[in-house]
Amino acid sequence: MYYRALLYHDLVDPLGISGFSRDQASSYKLTKENFIRQIKYCFEFISNESFHSRLRYVEDNNLLFTFDDGGSSMLDIADILESFGFYGYFFISTSFIGKNGFLNKPQIKELHDRGHIVGSHSHSHPHIFSKLSFDKMKHEWETSKDILESILSYEVDSCSLPGGEMNKNGISTAGLFFKNFFCSEPYIRPYYSGNILILGRISIQKQHSHKYVLDVLKSRFLIKQRIIRIFKNIIKKFYYLNKGPYD
Ligand SMILES: [Zn+2]
Repeated sequence: MYYRALLYHDLVDPLGISGFSRDQASSYKLTKENFIRQIKYCFEFISNESFHSRLRYVEDNNLLFTFDDGGSSMLDIADILESFGFYGYFFISTSFIGKNGFLNKPQIKELHDRGHIVGSHSHSHPHIFSKLSFDKMKHEWETSKDILESILSYEVDSCSLPGGEMNKNGISTAGLFFKNFFCSEPYIRPYYSGNILILGRISIQKQHSHKYVLDVLKSRFLIKQRIIRIFKNIIKKFYYLNKGPYD
């Protein structure tokens, strides 16, 4: 089974407040115009290919749009997706719900009621998730799932990893609560780790144009992206080694 999953974060909103405001976050905030152009090209691409993106589950040849963090621009994003008949996966870090720049509870419920999938992006979005103890990881997933399910009155079965740092305990603790685990590695073929399905995603940043997204859909540069990712992970590991445990 093959699929493509695009990993987005936020749009640049008029007030400039949506999502996290730390330095690196700005490189993941697309202008609304660029985002609309990308979605339009996705729509045209899948209209001509055997792809589809209107399903609420992962299936062969599916194109998935995913959005991390739960910034307040998510409802604008949902409007744009829906205008092309698409649904999205919205992953929420629950300790930020209702804070300045983030969705509140009724807005999260609205996303769900409009047919989108709401998942967990941990509770507190730890900067280095892989450095947490097993119990703290469990706590992050469980708390977030409980909060989302109390808002939605619906079972939340998908999560995405904050920070993108793949880690065995991160996956196995998520497997205690969820069925689908979205990571930031550029895989296009899902695989099981224990009882949880691991789904790779290709990250889209503000400098990426619709042409880049089309290349992703056509699987161009996937090997190059994989190599870049491996190098990034090595650098991150080296950097974290000198920082000590997060918790
Ligand atoms: Zn995040």
